[in-house]
Amino acid sequence: MSSLATAVTIRLNWAFVRSGDQLDWRRAAACADLPQRYVFTRDLSEAEIVLRACNRCPVREECEAVVDPAHTWFDGVSGGRLWRNGREVKRTER
Ligand code: SF4
Repeated sequence: MSSLATAVTIRLNWAFVRSGDQLDWRRAAACADLPQRYVFTRDLSEAEIVLRACNRCPVREECEAVVDPAHTWFDGVSGGRLWRNGREVKRTER
């Protein structure tokens, strides 16, 4: 699956979960009320607001387990880290 297709799938799943009852953990997410463009950004400066939310998020493990960023070429924030093409972006990288 291409990176774009994976990102679209994850965004759709994210949106579905937001409106559904299947994964209650998503409602507990500290980023639930933040604009999705900051969650799914590739840019570290845009991701900072979400990364700060991750620090107090009670569902970090669930988030990373569902998104599985390293295996889905994920772009965005998951489990308290920013990912770009499924690789963690270190804070020293810009
Ligand atoms: S760990 Fe971060 S990206 Fe994942 S649900 Fe929590 S706040 Fe959102």
